[in-house]
Amino acid sequence: MPLKSPRPDVHIPDQDIISFLFDRKPACDPNAPLFVNGMTGVGCSWNQLKDLSRRFGAGLVEKLQWKKGDVLAIMTQNAVEYPIVAFGTHIASGIVTPVNPSYTAPELTHQLRNSGARILVIQPSLLPIGIEACKTLNIPRERIYVIAEESVQGFQPWSSIMSKNQLTKAEHIKNPSKDLAYLVYSSGTTGLAKGVMLSHTNLIANMCQLYGAEGKYFTVGKSKYIGVLPFYHIYGLTCLVHLPVLQGIPVIILPQFTLKDFCNIVQKYKITYVYAVPPIILQLAKDPIVDNYDLTSLEMFNCGAAPLTKELTIEATERLRVPIKQGYGMTESSPVSIVQDWNKWRVYGSTGHLLPNMSLKFVSPGPEHDELPVNTEGELWVRGPNVMQGYHGNEEATRETITEDGWLRTGDVGYVDEEGNVFITDRVKELIKYKGFQVPPAELEGVIISHPAVKDVAVIGVYDATQATELPRAYVVLKDSVKGREMEMEKDIVAFVKGRVARHKRLRGGVRFVEEVPKSPSGKILRRKLRDEVKAQGETA
Ligand code: AMP
Repeated sequence: MPLKSPRPDVHIPDQDIISFLFDRKPACDPNAPLFVNGMTGVGCSWNQLKDLSRRFGAGLVEKLQWKKGDVLAIMTQNAVEYPIVAFGTHIASGIVTPVNPSYTAPELTHQLRNSGARILVIQPSLLPIGIEACKTLNIPRERIYVIAEESVQGFQPWSSIMSKNQLTKAEHIKNPSKDLAYLVYSSGTTGLAKGVMLSHTNLIANMCQLYGAEGKYFTVGKSKYIGVLPFYHIYGLTCLVHLPVLQGIPVIILPQFTLKDFCNIVQKYKITYVYAVPPIILQLAKDPIVDNYDLTSLEMFNCGAAPLTKELTIEATERLRVPIKQGYGMTESSPVSIVQDWNKWRVYGSTGHLLPNMSLKFVSPGPEHDELPVNTEGELWVRGPNVMQGYHGNEEATRETITEDGWLRTGDVGYVDEEGNVFITDRVKELIKYKGFQVPPAELEGVIISHPAVKDVAVIGVYDATQATELPRAYVVLKDSVKGREMEMEKDIVAFVKGRVARHKRLRGGVRFVEEVPKSPSGKILRRKLRDEVKAQGETA
């Protein structure tokens, strides 16, 4: 029998995101700051967010003849404008595709093409990349808008879309459980980045599930989030853009992480709750500058997106005197499905219990997928109202990832104990995670194989405890003509990759030269074999 959440079910209204968030009495003072740029102090209140989103939505319809299902791409560091643009697009019954601001032009081109984005809203410093990608796709320059007060290099500011009028309802969202709100890119268990189709209900469900699990620990007027996780990643989007509006809890935005700015903002704004990833916890545990700040307002960290070791949890909690709990999720489940309760954070290494309205099972590898008993490792499958609608335009990948009866095959390995605590111990999917960011090995292999000296290649992640993250490493078979020039080739391949991919995908784990890449008889790369060899050699990056 699949395991049901021990938490009581919550009601998930059959509404669109906008009615759900704004057709209600706000939980906070509607004129108090809700999203604030922590570096400049400039922000917006619940009322302003509602009104500006409504004007942005009206402008999309009036000026750009926006229709249901049209896609807006947003590419920026965390900014107060993010929720306005996102909710404004939803009011106009559109879909938002958030783009990683460190993407190169080809990566952005892939996302714009695949999502069919009609307009791009972009941070001015990223304009060269936006222009190049739009040129490749014949998207007219007028469809690029900058996040700035004034026009930049002839590109209109995003606010020029706004109307004087307000659109108050997402009137074309008739079927919130199927109508899409976001296309968020993830490689899933295999291959290249795909558009994860998240419906209005998916997002509302995850807000209600998180609220049901932890809402009672927050106090309106006192609790505060730091907006440090990137809003373009589903973890930041759900937990720091959507949930706070429901809760009425302010988000103090940190556009770009540095430990100093992080500590400054926590101290200055008396932040109480931090959604974090392991590398942030690592810096807080180790860096001497932390001692220069008063961080005593902090009540709790939630760490997710990648595994947090017991050792690091203990080291950081002892230093900070703040508990650190874990959560687990993936883009395909909007994202959170498992989270530790505030009083269970000492179950070290566990990611916690299922969120309300969810079930899970651990299944054996192989075609049978037998359900496994407690304390037995297998692949984690989860089911619930937060599970995506599928991959955009990719039925095959959808079928491979969601079973007919609605189970999401996570590609993660772990087990559940008698108390329902879930432990994630490994991954059977291809994905590498660098500091919580996705690095699809197939994508890097595609880049590296185009290097003139490379005959074959496989990419895996190797764990580096000193940075609390995996690092992408390439196993390369060189062409005969360059054999003997390995040192020179290593540098060359690393630089080649660096010039072609986003920062987080660089080959920080280096290059190893091999005689052949291990493959199955059908030609599939056996990454697991390489990973096992790394483990057997006790090697870390
Ligand atoms: P993403 O879709 O980018 O959120 O990545 C999802 C993947 O991150 C999961 O499938 C896991 O492999 C990994 N992940 C997320 N949270 C955790 C966690 N607490 N422990 C271990 N791995 C995690």
